[in-house]
Amino acid sequence: MAELIVKTYYDNLKNGKLMGLKCPKCSTHSFPPKGTCNKCGNPDLSWVQMSGEGKINVYSVLNYPGGEFQAVAPYAFGLVKMKEGPVFYTMVKGVDLDDPWKGNMKLPVDATAKVEKVGTKSIVVFYAKK
Ligand SMILES: [Zn+2]
Repeated sequence: MAELIVKTYYDNLKNGKLMGLKCPKCSTHSFPPKGTCNKCGNPDLSWVQMSGEGKINVYSVLNYPGGEFQAVAPYAFGLVKMKEGPVFYTMVKGVDLDDPWKGNMKLPVDATAKVEKVGTKSIVVFYAKK
């Protein structure tokens, strides 16, 4: 079951679709999708397309990532709260990498998701709206 969820998630990402799971009992979303509801433990969840809207709450700059991500360093990695509720860490763009302390951007900032390729991986990137 867990392998199938991961495969479905990545197959959809390759096609540019953000698919999460929604609990029919309590309406809690999970993204990236998990096999059981975080809130009520229900294992019988339904696939739903996520809006891709969210807020970047915090970020920091990664200068020395490993593997395929070395090619795109430095980049920002932030905590995003999606409109539907899930919170997760991912790459964020449109934020100031050189001097985050300038205070040009007040967090949290609204952001929109795009699926991008880094090396052989498809990942979710959130772009800050200015
Ligand atoms: Zn639930």
